[in-house]
Amino acid sequence: MNNYQHIFFDLDHTLWDFNKNSRETLEELFEIYSLKNYGIEAFEDFVKTYKIVNDLKWDQYRKGEITKEVLRATRFYDTLLRFEIDHPELAAEIDQEYILRSPQKTNLFPHALEVLGYLSEKYALHIITNGFTEVQDIKMTKSGLKPFFTHEITSEIAGVNKPDPVIFRYAMQKAGAKRKESIMIGDNLQVDCVGARRVGMDQVYFNPDKVPHQEKLTFEIANLGELKTLF
Ligand SMILES: [Mg+2]
Repeated sequence: MNNYQHIFFDLDHTLWDFNKNSRETLEELFEIYSLKNYGIEAFEDFVKTYKIVNDLKWDQYRKGEITKEVLRATRFYDTLLRFEIDHPELAAEIDQEYILRSPQKTNLFPHALEVLGYLSEKYALHIITNGFTEVQDIKMTKSGLKPFFTHEITSEIAGVNKPDPVIFRYAMQKAGAKRKESIMIGDNLQVDCVGARRVGMDQVYFNPDKVPHQEKLTFEIANLGELKTLF
């Protein structure tokens, strides 16, 4: 086992429970904007459709096919359009509210704070996240994550998204960390783990659903609590 000194965490779906927080926000918006009156019968239909559209848009954004502005301008518009609601103003308002409300949500994965408290006494902790700086910072502050971390590297700051090697090297440089002292923890097999492996960092794959895979990784956990036995 390497002599680790720096632990780099992914944020969304690893510490911050993105799905739970997003769902809570969409539930509020469904009520506030009375989307039932526009013909969307059930909240579940709305959330399912939004997820499909949003995943598609993020995929395009990651590939560099669309900009952040286009992503924000179209994800709710296209969602509503799938219910035959052609209402750009309503879509823009919902997007605005979503952006304001969702980062304020504070649901974390089980044991997140307890484990970070434990790790922060022995290691320097940092974040490497594909996301917008302003948004990720609100999430970390509101949910109580912020005090545990020394550096927060976003793809917006680094200029590239994970798994681009540039963002991992940038993060290590920023933290003053050597490869052999560093380990990356994340829920995305390719983006976090294979990405880190490619620059010579060790990896912990956070795989709560125990999805089978073929990659050779340093460690794998299904629960953040397991980090206390690893480190
Ligand atoms: Mg993630």
